[in-house]
Amino acid sequence: MELKQIRNFCIIAHIDHGKSTLADQMLLKTKTVDQRQFRDQLLDDMDIERERGITIKSHPVTMHYDADDGLEYELNLIDTPGHVDFSYEVSRSMSACEGAILVVDAAQGVQAQTVANTHLAVDRGLEVIPVLNKIDLPNADIEAAKKQIEDVLAIDASDALLVSAKTGQGIDAVMEAVISKIPPPQCTQESTRALIFDSVYDAFRGVVTYVRVVDGAIRGRDRIKMLGTGTRTEIKEIGIFSPKPTPVEKLNPGQVGYLIGTIKTPSESQVGDTIVMGSDDSSGALAGFSPIKPMVFSGLYPVDTADYEKFRQSLEKLSLNDSALTFHAESSVALGFGFRCGFLGLLHMEIVQERLTREFDLDIISTAPSVIYRIDLKDGTSMELDNPVFMPDITTIDTIYEPCIRAFIICMNEHIGDVMKLIMDRRGDVLKTESLDTTRVMLTCNMPLNEILTDFHDILKSVSHGYASMDYEHSGYEASDMVKLDVMLNSEVVDAFSCLVHRSKAISKGRQICAALKESVPRHMFAIPIQAALGRTIIARETIRAFRKDVTAKLYGGDVTRKRKLLDKQKKGKKRMKQFGQVSVPQKAFISVLRTGA
Ligand code: GDP
Ligand code: MG
Repeated sequence: MELKQIRNFCIIAHIDHGKSTLADQMLLKTKTVDQRQFRDQLLDDMDIERERGITIKSHPVTMHYDADDGLEYELNLIDTPGHVDFSYEVSRSMSACEGAILVVDAAQGVQAQTVANTHLAVDRGLEVIPVLNKIDLPNADIEAAKKQIEDVLAIDASDALLVSAKTGQGIDAVMEAVISKIPPPQCTQESTRALIFDSVYDAFRGVVTYVRVVDGAIRGRDRIKMLGTGTRTEIKEIGIFSPKPTPVEKLNPGQVGYLIGTIKTPSESQVGDTIVMGSDDSSGALAGFSPIKPMVFSGLYPVDTADYEKFRQSLEKLSLNDSALTFHAESSVALGFGFRCGFLGLLHMEIVQERLTREFDLDIISTAPSVIYRIDLKDGTSMELDNPVFMPDITTIDTIYEPCIRAFIICMNEHIGDVMKLIMDRRGDVLKTESLDTTRVMLTCNMPLNEILTDFHDILKSVSHGYASMDYEHSGYEASDMVKLDVMLNSEVVDAFSCLVHRSKAISKGRQICAALKESVPRHMFAIPIQAALGRTIIARETIRAFRKDVTAKLYGGDVTRKRKLLDKQKKGKKRMKQFGQVSVPQKAFISVLRTGA
C-alpha cells in the first residue's frame, strides 16, 4: 500500500461522549469485525475498562476502507485512554498519528477533558476533525456545541460533522473526512525508524511492542535495536491488529502494528523509544523519549501480614502489563512490611488497588498519597522526596518545591461561587473564567497537585450537584512553605501518619487525624495522649482516657483523706504503668483512620 493511502488517527473526547461507540461503528463499517463477533465497546477488553466504561490501555486497530474516490485506504485507529493520568500514553499515541477526531456530545457540549485532550492534540500538530455526536438525543443542541468548540477550543466548527454513533447516522461522512482532511504519513529517509507507542506483556511470548513505522520498513527476522534503552533483539513475529493480532511479512512506513522479539522484561521496551535496524546509530531518535515518571506515591501494605509474599508476586505480575507502575519494598512500624508504589495519578492508583483486590484477591491498606517534592538543601545539593518519613532535618533545608497543575473546571453558573471557594480553600488561583454558553462557565486555575489528591473530586461533585467536570495538566514546580506533620501516640511517632502539609493547613489536618485516632484506638489501663506535632511544637492534642478501677468502692463513710490516699496510690501505679506500658494499637484502628482519609 502506498503512503498516500494510509491514514493514522486517534479519537479524543470527554468520558462518555461516545469515543468507543464511534470506534465500534468504524469497525463495522469497514467490516473489520462482522456483526457476529461484535459486542459494544469492542476495544475495551479489560474487566475494569468495561465496567467503568473507561479506556485504560491504548488499542490500535487497522481497518481497510473503500473510499468514494475508488481507492482502498488503510486506516489505523489508535484508541487512546482519555483520562489525564494517562496523558503520557495519550501523547505518545498521538505522536503515532497525523490527525484526531474530536468527539463532542451535542447534548452536553464541551467538557473539561475535551479541553485538555484538544490541547494535547493541537500541541502535537495534529489535524483535528470536530464531530458532534449523539444528535439522535432530543436535547442535543448542535449550534451551542459548535459555538463552544469555536470559542473555547479555537477550532473552526462551521462544518463539524453531525453523527449518531448509536444509530450509525453520519458515519460515512466521518470516514470520508478522515481520508480528505488528515494528511497521509510522511517518510523522510531510507533507513528504518519506528516509534514504540505501547507495549504489553504476554505470559507465553514475552513483551509485545506496539510500533508505528516512521521511515524505512521492518520485516520478520530483522535484527533491531532500541535507541533509548540499548535493547537489541531479533524479531520473531511482526503483525497488525485487525483487531486481533495478525502476523504479516513486513511493516511499511506509516503502518502501525506490533512486533515480538526475544525480550522478556517489559522495562527493556520503553514507550516513546525509537527502533532502528541492527547497529544503525546514525539516524537519530524520534522526538520525545523520556522515561515515564510516576507523579503520586503511596505505601501499600497487605492487611494480613502473611500475604506479603503473595502481594510481592502480584505486584510483579501487575507491573509486567503496566509499565508505569513502580514499587520498592518499605516497612512501617505500624503496618509491617509493604511496598512504596508510584502511580501516574489518582485514577491509576485507584485502578491498581482495585486490580490487586480483584484479580489477586488481596486485602490492601494504603497510606496517604503523596506527591514528589523537590528540596534544595543549604549545602547546595538538591533531592526528590516521595516519602515524608525521609524528610531531611528542617535546619538543612533551603527551599521546598511542590508540583502544580493547571486545572480546567466546567460548572453551571449558579455553582461558580462554591466552586471558587473550594479552589481557594485548596490554595488555588483562578486565572481565567470564560462563559461557555448561557448556563455554564469554565474556570482555568493553578493549584498544587497535593491538594487534589484525596477528596477534591468528591467535594467538587457535591458542591456542583454532580454537574462540574474537571481535568488538568501538569504545570511544573513552585516554591512552597511545606512542613512535616508527625503524629504521636503516647509520645512515640507513628510513621504511617506522617505527611507533608502546607503550613496554613497543618493545624486543621493535625486536629482531624487526632480526632479520628481517638475514635479508633481502644482504651488502655493508662491515659494515652495523641498529639500532632511540627518538629517539637505540638499543634493538636486529644487524650484517650484510661480505664479506672473504682478503688474507693469498699469505703463508706469515714474521713475524705482515706479516699484521697487510695486514689493517690492508684495514680502512682498508673504513672509507672504509663512509663513502661506499650500502647497496643490494633491494625484495624490504623486502617480505619487511613481509610477515612483524615
Ligand atoms: P467513551 O467514554 O467516550 O468511550 O463513550 P462510550 O462510547 O463508552 O459511550 C458512552 C455512552 O453513550 C454509552 O452508553 C453509549 O451507548 C452512549 N452513546 C454513544 N454514542 C451515542 C449516540 O450517538 N446516541 C446516543 N443516544 N447514545 C450514545
Ligand atoms: Mg471508551
